[in-house]
Amino acid sequence: MTMVVGLTGGIGSGKTTIANLFHDQFGIEIIDADVVAREVVEPGTRGLNAIAEYFGEQVLTSEGELDRAALRERIFSNVDEKKWLNNLLHPLIRQSITQQLSKVSSDYSLLVVPLLVENSWQPMIDRLLVIDVQPETQIARTRQRDGVSEDQVHSILASQASREERLSFADDVINNDAPLNEQTKQKLLSQVTVLHKKYLALSHSYL
Ligand code: ADP
Repeated sequence: MTMVVGLTGGIGSGKTTIANLFHDQFGIEIIDADVVAREVVEPGTRGLNAIAEYFGEQVLTSEGELDRAALRERIFSNVDEKKWLNNLLHPLIRQSITQQLSKVSSDYSLLVVPLLVENSWQPMIDRLLVIDVQPETQIARTRQRDGVSEDQVHSILASQASREERLSFADDVINNDAPLNEQTKQKLLSQVTVLHKKYLALSHSYL
């Protein structure tokens, strides 16, 4: 398996935006834990079958897909059911990620995990790149992207690791507070390029 660089940051920090730069500029393969989390509950999967059996048809849409809102509501006030769901999904997600990582053909891979620090993903990665922004930036960008209220973003922020905690685990940091324009885009790109070269050098010592 090639070197795995974990990429994390709080909600709206710019994880996807920056991971895409590594991919578009340098062809680095990205595995996104959020995408995998959806894949393991697609219709026909072991994951969705187990959920339907446990929670009943009420958590499925008429098309037989997972009704996320219904499931969220169901586990919201039930700690045991939430625990059951996490115990089902976490191993499925990790298994699928391990399998996908083993197939990577770029020199190293980026594993994008929103709750990397919170959920102890460190054993799966070789280094950690943290996308760092001020909470005010996270709030503004998340509100704009998702159309959610400031209160909703605040409660998500409160459920995630603090900026300081996340940074304490970082091997590398990109600050993404500057609003994107031609100049800041170039700056971001040059930071990504420096890191890419560093990761290439490190990845060759993994072979
Ligand atoms: P994450 O994946 O960490 O939740 P995204 O990459 O989706 O974050 O970024 C959150 C939102 O902010 C997106 O709408 C994205 O286009 C925008 N965004 C990201 N970086 C910047 C930036 N430097 N300046 C302005 N907008 C940005």
